[in-house]
Amino acid sequence: MFCYQCEQTASNTGCTITGICGKNPETAALQDLLIDAAKGISRYAHRARKLGKKDRSVDRFLIEALFTTVTNVNFDPERMEALLREAHQILKTSRTMCEAAYKEAEKQLEPLNSSCTWVPAPDQNGLIEQGEMVGIRKRFESLGEDITGLQELLLYGVKGAASYAQHAMVLGKEDDEIYGFFHEALDALTKKDPSVDELFALNMRCGEISVKTLALLDGANTSAYGNPEPTNVRWGAIPGKAILISGHDLNDLEKLLIQTEGKGINVYTHGEMLPTHGYPGLKKYKHLVGHYGGAWMKQRTEFSQFPGAILMTTNCIQEPREDYKDSIFTCGLVAWPGVTHIADQDFSQVIEKALACEGFTTETEEKSLVVGFGHHAVLGIADQIIDAVKSGAIKHFFLIGGCDGAESGRNYYSDLVEAMPKDTVALTLGCGKFRILEADMGDIGGIPRRIDMGQCNDSYSAVKVAMALADAFETDVNGLPLSLVISWFEQKAVCVLLALLHLGVTDIRLGPKLPAFITPTVLNVLVEKFRIKPSGNVEDDLAAMLNKNAG
Ligand code: SF4
Ligand code: SF4
Repeated sequence: MFCYQCEQTASNTGCTITGICGKNPETAALQDLLIDAAKGISRYAHRARKLGKKDRSVDRFLIEALFTTVTNVNFDPERMEALLREAHQILKTSRTMCEAAYKEAEKQLEPLNSSCTWVPAPDQNGLIEQGEMVGIRKRFESLGEDITGLQELLLYGVKGAASYAQHAMVLGKEDDEIYGFFHEALDALTKKDPSVDELFALNMRCGEISVKTLALLDGANTSAYGNPEPTNVRWGAIPGKAILISGHDLNDLEKLLIQTEGKGINVYTHGEMLPTHGYPGLKKYKHLVGHYGGAWMKQRTEFSQFPGAILMTTNCIQEPREDYKDSIFTCGLVAWPGVTHIADQDFSQVIEKALACEGFTTETEEKSLVVGFGHHAVLGIADQIIDAVKSGAIKHFFLIGGCDGAESGRNYYSDLVEAMPKDTVALTLGCGKFRILEADMGDIGGIPRRIDMGQCNDSYSAVKVAMALADAFETDVNGLPLSLVISWFEQKAVCVLLALLHLGVTDIRLGPKLPAFITPTVLNVLVEKFRIKPSGNVEDDLAAMLNKNAG
């Protein structure tokens, strides 16, 4: 196997024996094959679209296939095999649509590549062998590391955007332009002799589409559940039967809340489900009682201690320990071998399990967290913020966004917050926030010094606020007293990074390590064009960020 799509990749070069995440070589090969099949599907779909033909089942399958291969989503070879068999059906649908479009237009379809003519092997071992033939390594040999790295940057950006599009899709919001770009990008990835310039331009287009996708998801979430409001969340437990829900999916949470209503079960959020407490349409359920635990990488310890049922909705799942393997359930695209998977959002097995478990018998120490500062809430106090900046009460904002991870080096983010001068404000997004949630940062004239803007899925809030402040100060985002510090872990963060680059944001500090797929040559281009900086030491970085607009 070879995989270098996430930040924890082995030796920061690539997982080759088994994934640090727990992905075994067999599942890695099946995922590579699914991506290859997706490229074939898109090659046909992109050509058909140019002639005005499209098929929603093809578009929807594509985003699910891409999301499935994101880090920490699907580790189950059985489910991968089922998806591959479905991919073959979708490939045939896409091919038929494309051939019909060409016939109608009296055009000749040029010879297509092996992704388009793939026929799945009859058994799982055969599929694994097919997957081993289409991995990244082959392209290192034929295209070199720079081109392959730029191709993977595009693929990972598209995977991240597809994940956001899938969250929006389950809430009934879709956008044809977004689907069209995904097909175009995957088709481009099958090109035999791509140039650096071409791939760079596609990566920037991916950033543009990422902004649109983040806006689509923001609209989907807020139209379904209202605008998030600042909300105090209990961080701790109360006596009673309990279900813990983790991942990111708001729709799964809503369905669980509806199905548990009146059953005497308390529902707790875990990890990146924390910001869901701010949505009026979700917090109205009184049995959504609080939050339990921290960021995703602590789940093995925290789930072991949870005395109820656990539901994992999307990424980021880790290998379940034996002591909670029969209490954890997966749904949607996330899967782990041997863990019961819930189809069609019927959570009765989760409810039965919760009722059979002891639940909490005592109240645990209660702490309170404030969430719910989406763009609507922050822009609601925009005048106060603008006055505070003009009067000098607020000197600088730090947007600390992105994912958390298990390895060392991530103390950078908590150390940075600790060192921040008292007249500065931290805006947080993604599970990186758990590093600094407990710090008592106080406020500046009633404006909290720590403002949590939500999940990484809510990055559009940060974009919207930054744009509005730039307007108010008659500058662009780079002219604001604002620094972006991005902690990346997986492909959603790649999508957010490309979105920021598309918006022309410069001087982003990226860490804790640079992606292995960004080769020195590509890094030079990013540094030259966008002044991207690897995060360094806190003291120097802080001084540079505070002085960014000086002179
Ligand atoms: S997703 Fe990350 S940890 Fe898992 S195999 Fe790929 S690079 Fe390794
Ligand atoms: S922010 Fe990233 S690492 Fe954190 S839970 Fe979400 S997807 Fe996983």
